[in-house]
Amino acid sequence: MMYKSIRGMEDILPGGIRAWQSLERIARIELESNGYSEIRTPILEETAVFSRSIGDTTDIVTKEMYTFVDKKGRGLSLRPEGTAPIVRAYVEHSLHRISNQSRLYYIGPMFRSERPQKGRSRQFHQIGAEIIGSSEPQMDAEIIARLSDLLKLFGLEAFQIKLNSLGCKDDKDKFSGKLKNYLKGKKNKLCADCNNRLEKNCLRVLDCKNEECVKIVKDSPDIADNLCGRCGEHFGKVKMMLESYFGVQFVESKKMVRGLDYYTGTVFEVTHPDLGGQDALGGGGRYDNLVKEFGGPNVGAVGFAIGIERVFIALGDKKDLFGSPGLVYIATLGGDAKIKGRKLAEELRLRWNGFPPPDGRLYNLNVVTLLDWTDASLRSQMRSADRNGARVVIILGDDEIKQNKAAIKDMENKEPQFLIDIGSVVDEVGKRMGLC
Ligand SMILES: [Zn+2]
Ligand SMILES: [Zn+2]
Repeated sequence: MMYKSIRGMEDILPGGIRAWQSLERIARIELESNGYSEIRTPILEETAVFSRSIGDTTDIVTKEMYTFVDKKGRGLSLRPEGTAPIVRAYVEHSLHRISNQSRLYYIGPMFRSERPQKGRSRQFHQIGAEIIGSSEPQMDAEIIARLSDLLKLFGLEAFQIKLNSLGCKDDKDKFSGKLKNYLKGKKNKLCADCNNRLEKNCLRVLDCKNEECVKIVKDSPDIADNLCGRCGEHFGKVKMMLESYFGVQFVESKKMVRGLDYYTGTVFEVTHPDLGGQDALGGGGRYDNLVKEFGGPNVGAVGFAIGIERVFIALGDKKDLFGSPGLVYIATLGGDAKIKGRKLAEELRLRWNGFPPPDGRLYNLNVVTLLDWTDASLRSQMRSADRNGARVVIILGDDEIKQNKAAIKDMENKEPQFLIDIGSVVDEVGKRMGLC
């Protein structure tokens, strides 16, 4: 019997893991250095955490969640997104007592049972950040700037940030009525799903991809033109700050509502030409009522999420450029050579990776050392170095060590090997690998 992973849930193998690690590392450093702290919530939550926040008429909740009843009869779901669990944790642990603004970030798998296709796995991964505790427009601008900066650090350029405002709950309700009136007259042209949405949650019609529905929606009223004074002013400030403080480019996208009910006020989405029209690199928005609805204080919040798999699609071949460390293979012949080789490997890691880190700083993985302990012949050790993808091979034999020498073979330029003083090996390796 040979088992396979569940359809739409993929293994990430050693050959592809570097890109993931680099991306996650960039995100950690960028977010931590901007005052965000990581939060890790369980991947399972009570189903109500999602149905009451994302909305029980949304596609995510009605069609896409992995929901089951456990042995105690509780309805549980695998998390389809990261914000609702974080708000649940924020309220449960009274994080508002620790700081007036909690800047939080997360990296991890999410689960939605969509039809698997490129860029849409059933287990997919997100990097997200939230600022909980403030309704100020500064926070919207900061979170969008953070998102934009992160994507640039990942090496993306051609992305576009789309911006809209849904207004407060009153604005949303009023607009829903207005939209419903408009759509009612065109009811028979709308798809079956949209006829359903019209009664239950008519903003969802704006998300429909059906051609006829898109045509009808084109001439519908715009939500951003129907904001109350406060929400209009807030949205204006967000746009002004993005331009003047952060220099972030965006376009207004007046039909964008995002598929989750908890959003109020600013919403945004990032698209990329390599993803096609239907998929976004990421997005987010403000959710000022959710903390209160979950039993917490009446504070505003705003956040974003980035789809890691989609970043990789948008990066294309560039994703292989993510800091692959060079392998230094140390071939040894004889007992003294093994002892000297072990010491040399340690010196290399300490010098080029700063590891073990003397002051608790994050170390760089520039060099991977692989010491050949076997008693195999030099020829066979060289073959093994080649198969493992070594960048540089250091050859240590007992005879060379007696003269305080080591042989270096650069596997990239294929020049013949040469002898140098053991004391210069660490520098020589660094030079060949472009580290100094
Ligand atoms: Zn309003
Ligand atoms: Zn439709």
